[in-house]
Amino acid sequence: MLEITGLGKVYEGRGGVEALRKIDFRVADGDLVCVVGPSGCGKTTLLKCLAGLLSPTTGEVRVAGRRVTGPPPGMAVVFQEYGRSLFPWMTVRKNVELPLREKKVPAPRRRELVEEALSAVGLAGAAVAHPWQLSGGMQQRVAIARAIAYEPQVLLMDEPFAAVDAQTRAELEDLLLTLWRRLGVTTLLVTHDIDEAVYLGRRVIVLSSAPTVVQEDLPIDLPAARDQITTRSAPRFAELRAHVYAQIKQAKNGAAAGVDQDAPVRAAEQSGP
Ligand code: ADP
Ligand code: MG
Repeated sequence: MLEITGLGKVYEGRGGVEALRKIDFRVADGDLVCVVGPSGCGKTTLLKCLAGLLSPTTGEVRVAGRRVTGPPPGMAVVFQEYGRSLFPWMTVRKNVELPLREKKVPAPRRRELVEEALSAVGLAGAAVAHPWQLSGGMQQRVAIARAIAYEPQVLLMDEPFAAVDAQTRAELEDLLLTLWRRLGVTTLLVTHDIDEAVYLGRRVIVLSSAPTVVQEDLPIDLPAARDQITTRSAPRFAELRAHVYAQIKQAKNGAAAGVDQDAPVRAAEQSGP
């Protein structure tokens, strides 16, 4: 379903920032793959190239065999900054409905899809609220409802649960697993949380630090049915987690050992508001 071949991305300006060197991997139809890697290694850049929002400098991305040159049909994206991805002046219902209007889904079917998606994320009662009246976790549920109402073939998520409390995060993780099983949607989820990657993923792809390549593509051989308590306390979970942890540490040390010419630029960016 997703084919990433020799993908490289250099941002122009300030001498150029090489966000991705050469990324190669594939995601089969219906799979759930998590991507982890050190902060600043290019995870968001990778997702934006997949979503057709950025054009790669080298290589290519294909979705269902077709080369991506703009936002592919049948793809939904849940961004990290969900607060900014919802329109504050629209009700929750209108926010979820918007992409369906653009897809030209007839009104009765639109209503059905919106109601289904909102009840799937436990927000049936909040349809006429405005996003600013909701907690962070609820706003993120709205963003997820909008993505699933669209009935995508491919779902991309960029650190979707990073900004919510631990309890909500666990609930949203399980919600995602339930929806993924029910809809069979090919899912690629970016996270910096190693436990989350191992808990959710059928595969975990570890990115190196810059120059960014795929450091490891690890199958997660845990039972298909996952449970926050049983799965996370299984010895195999601990092994996989430790393994990914070591890989990331290695990736970070790789960066420390090399000359990181962009470090002052990044430090300056991070000290901003
Ligand atoms: P991650 O999501 O893994 O934290 P990003 O994809 O956001 O990493 O960024 C990868 C690198 O590209 C970083 O060095 C970052 O500073 C740089 N970068 C990201 N977006 C831009 C941009 N629009 N212009 C220039 N450099 C960018
Ligand atoms: Mg990011």
